[in-house]
Amino acid sequence: MGSFANFHKRSIEDRDSFWAEQAKTVDWEIQPQQICDYSNPPFAKWFVGGTTNLCHNAVDRHLKDRGDQAALIFVSTETEQEKTYTYKELHAEVQRMAAILKDFGVVKGDRVLIYLPMIAEASFAMLACARIGAIHSVVFGGFASHSLATRIEDASPKVIISADAGSRGGKVVAYKPLLDEAISLSSHKPKAVLMVDRHLSEFAKVAGRDFDYAQAREKHFNTQVPCEWVESTHPSYTLYTSGTTGKPKGVQRDTGGYAVALASSIPNIFQGKPGETFFCTSDIGWVVGHSYIIYGPLIGGMATILYEGLPIRPDGGIWWSLVEKYKVSVMFSAPTAIRVLKKQDPALLTKYNLSSLKALFLAGEPLDEPTAKWISEGLGGTPIIDNYWQTETGWPILTICNGVEKAPSKFGSPGKAVYGYDVKLVDDQTGEELAGANQKGVLTIEGPLPPGNLQTVWGDDARFVNTYWKTVPNRMLYSTFDWAVRDEDGYFFILGRTDDVINVAGHRLGTREIEESISSHPNIAEVAVVGVADQLKGQVAMAFAIAKDASALGDAAARLKLEGEVMKVVDNQLGAVARPSRVLFVSALPKTRSGKLLRRAIQAICEKRDPGDLTTMDDPLALKQIQDVLG
Ligand code: ATP
Ligand code: MG
Repeated sequence: MGSFANFHKRSIEDRDSFWAEQAKTVDWEIQPQQICDYSNPPFAKWFVGGTTNLCHNAVDRHLKDRGDQAALIFVSTETEQEKTYTYKELHAEVQRMAAILKDFGVVKGDRVLIYLPMIAEASFAMLACARIGAIHSVVFGGFASHSLATRIEDASPKVIISADAGSRGGKVVAYKPLLDEAISLSSHKPKAVLMVDRHLSEFAKVAGRDFDYAQAREKHFNTQVPCEWVESTHPSYTLYTSGTTGKPKGVQRDTGGYAVALASSIPNIFQGKPGETFFCTSDIGWVVGHSYIIYGPLIGGMATILYEGLPIRPDGGIWWSLVEKYKVSVMFSAPTAIRVLKKQDPALLTKYNLSSLKALFLAGEPLDEPTAKWISEGLGGTPIIDNYWQTETGWPILTICNGVEKAPSKFGSPGKAVYGYDVKLVDDQTGEELAGANQKGVLTIEGPLPPGNLQTVWGDDARFVNTYWKTVPNRMLYSTFDWAVRDEDGYFFILGRTDDVINVAGHRLGTREIEESISSHPNIAEVAVVGVADQLKGQVAMAFAIAKDASALGDAAARLKLEGEVMKVVDNQLGAVARPSRVLFVSALPKTRSGKLLRRAIQAICEKRDPGDLTTMDDPLALKQIQDVLG
């Protein structure tokens, strides 16, 4: 058995001793007494009896050996700021922020809502909460008042930390009016609002409620705030899922399990080493930002880049210039960002020295083969490593753990089950396990979920149990709601969400398979496929595509020609049963703010239904285009 297979096997069969070993990579004030308490499934408690602190592990413990090394590199191409904070400097900033929170009366277990753009203060705020045992709830800065209000309501924060404004593509986006409106919409009122004033946008202060960060920071310039040791099971944060399939779920994360999972993932999955630089292009409002902009790299003693700006401004080479400048060894992004770069001059990929880069990790949505090939070739063969996970899990479920044992990637596959995850493909009708190769099933995880995964849904244990653990017939398994197939080598291929399976005259097809096939046509940049109710066949596939070269769509005849070509590709690759009934062309597809295709909304429009909760949608005009092309 190869060393990874053995590593994985031990993590499942010898669970407690495996994780006891991993737990040594973090500092504990009191060592855990019990590795995993699963006496009340599906609620798992990790490292019971142990006390620790996320901020200590991310910052304080590095002061001795790397106090003067870079910890946080803040780069904003929006405000032309660039500043490196050493571990010592980060430590000081976090203590200042923690002291301010304590002045507001924030104590262990209190919630603090963070509604900030991608600025250094956002990381000080998160780490300061962790430092004093407060539970942070970061809300993506792109959300407007309604989405923000529901999150304020749900988290009931004592304090909100915000800013006057963000900036996107050089345009100032005021935050404060949205925040004020959200607070007025919410029945919960925070005691205090701490405002980081970037001097981008004038704003009105509410007397007695709003406070200025710069002033408070000055007052606490030299204040020291020790870390509060908390139980391993103490919640560190809550965070909402992306809302792709419906109302977002409030994920609650623990402290000790999360610290251990991230600490072990840095070398084993990401091949990161202390002293190196990690560049994750996500946003702190998403789980990837929590785990791999803030906590993971810092726990691993790495420097982390926090980037505010677009990937194509001042030009499409900006990210690669940062890789060169800061000798980035690990980079993490999303396929949606790579598709944006794909429209830029490819020469920008080779303009910089990228020799420090060990790999580019991509996650969040399916990585289609053309995009993977384009970026891999463009970067001169830098390994592109897909990884599949969820807000709920906090770290990858499927990938290639090159830090444990080097293994080849396969196009279209995020890889194998990561250690700690007892992944099972099951039949969604019977719950029966599909252990053989090349069978399609729902991707589930046998409990206990490994360290770092969600403890429960915030304030709603019943929703946790009913949503995730009660959907597979006859079995109590955690459902990812993703449909997958595993090949003979143990590599998984994600076929789409369980909601997205189309049933055409009794044939079950993943929307993903059809999309993959369509995007292999040389003039298709992006495509969304949905199943639409059909009297005759039950459902038919409908495709909405973006052409690479829009000039090929000049008139109706040209569009029909391309539509015909696309259908032929599907016929040849998958068979006529998968052929979409129509392929319609648009210039943008409706997505969540985190870049995920909102198929459920497209489907609703096609079926003339109400598209439902659209609070997490990015560009409302994209949905309107769908409506328009449907006529
Ligand atoms: P919601 O659960 O609220 O509907 P969401 O599932 O989009 O929203 P996230 O937790 O941000 O919220 O996304 C996780 C999902 O993203 C996975 O379940 C999967 O469908 C998809 N996904 C993530 N990474 C990959 C990947 N590498 N390949 C394919 N799909 C992926
Ligand atoms: Mg989900």
